[in-house]
Amino acid sequence: MPLRAVTLDAGGTLIEVAEPVGATYARVAGRHGIPLDARELERRFREAFAAASPLAFPGVPPTQLAAAEQGWWEAVVRRAFGASAHHPAFSACFAELYAHYARKDAWHVFPDVAPTLRALRARSLRLAVLSNFDRRLVTLLADLGLAPLIDHVVLSTAAGAAKPDVAAFRTALAILHTSAEETLHVGDSIAEDVEGARAAGFHAVLLDRSGLGESVPPHVATIAGLTQLPTLADALA
Ligand SMILES: [Mg+2]
Repeated sequence: MPLRAVTLDAGGTLIEVAEPVGATYARVAGRHGIPLDARELERRFREAFAAASPLAFPGVPPTQLAAAEQGWWEAVVRRAFGASAHHPAFSACFAELYAHYARKDAWHVFPDVAPTLRALRARSLRLAVLSNFDRRLVTLLADLGLAPLIDHVVLSTAAGAAKPDVAAFRTALAILHTSAEETLHVGDSIAEDVEGARAAGFHAVLLDRSGLGESVPPHVATIAGLTQLPTLADALA
């Protein structure tokens, strides 16, 4: 079946934080009178993020989703701050961090993104971002100039399921009006993007920007940069 759509992960695939999370957290915390070490915060953030439940709230009514999203992140930041989360200024500090990551200055767009999206568009492929992120991503993609290059943004929080859950991928198919065999997913996580997409019947490719190399299982198709994606799409056309 010819390819009709491409779904793309966001974090690590289209965008990345402009500076290490630990550095941002430490600077903002310091401003609120909470002294913390950037490197220690970075380590603790990664641990907290990896240990967190999927960023999805099945059964939560849409009117309560914004609060659920913010609460999820507050729990992650709280865990990263450890004992310092008991500081009276923690809530104000967290609110500032949450607002920070809603702004385009907090993010960097990989230089291969816009040319690749244009090349895929030129092939009449429908494009959706499929991300385990929250509503801030919609505004971010617009502010970063990427919204005109994308047809849909599918958020795990709105879908009620996060990758690698096949339900997240099926939500994307419903929005794109394509079948799994007509759809290619690309992302930088073997577990969330490649294995999840394959379980849902998608074509899947790993974006390995940092060169994981030998740790990538041999059955996983890999590209080193997004510029390789249009050629891959042509092979599936
Ligand atoms: Mg990613």
